[in-house]
Amino acid sequence: IFTRPWVFIRGVPAMKFLPPEGPPEIAFAGRSNVGKSSLINALVGQNGLARTSNTPGRTQELNYFVPDGYSGMEGDMPPMALVDMPGYGYAKAPKDQVDLWTKLVFDYLKGRVTLKRVYLLIDARHGIKKNDEEVMALLDKAAVSYQIVLTKTDKIKAAGVPKLIEDTLLKTKRRPAAFPVVLATSSEKNEGLDELRAAMVLAVNG
Ligand code: GDP
Repeated sequence: IFTRPWVFIRGVPAMKFLPPEGPPEIAFAGRSNVGKSSLINALVGQNGLARTSNTPGRTQELNYFVPDGYSGMEGDMPPMALVDMPGYGYAKAPKDQVDLWTKLVFDYLKGRVTLKRVYLLIDARHGIKKNDEEVMALLDKAAVSYQIVLTKTDKIKAAGVPKLIEDTLLKTKRRPAAFPVVLATSSEKNEGLDELRAAMVLAVNG
């Protein structure tokens, strides 16, 4: 599935603009600049699918992607769709915008039966921040299974990665909807991508 071309379906500013529920969905969330667009592009081997370096805090839309070549009719559903959630945690974002973000995201998390897993991206250099904790609380409340993915691991010492994984796991192990395995990736060095792809396939088949 990851070797097929993927296509952008639409940007979704509110629930009513979502495509009808069809394929199982995997969503990606994280603070602005965490490397979310780069990771999505690396996963499907397609630069420019998810736009990189958007003005932080600006795109308040869920971006919906599917692999090309499926009609979407019964019996011809793609095995998964990807949803790029708007980045959060931009320091200069006005409160209205944060409220809109929270509403859109929480409506989606709570209301979408076909959503199978959220990958919550955490910058390996920064670790879990307060707003990541807030998003985890939303995910727990919506009872959506989520898994932490560390990004940009090429920016820290390789020897420090296992400890970071362990510390991150400790910080999330009491959270009811957190998946008890933390993945480590670098889009730049193409590391950890196969593990993430395998986890995604398991998530949509589970
Ligand atoms: P987004 O805002 O979360 O979509 O983040 P982007 O994908 O646009 O990435 C933000 C910045 O981090 C860009 O300058 C990327 O080149 C850089 N970046 C993303 N992934 C990696 C990575 O794996 N390693 C390194 N060193 N830089 C990365």
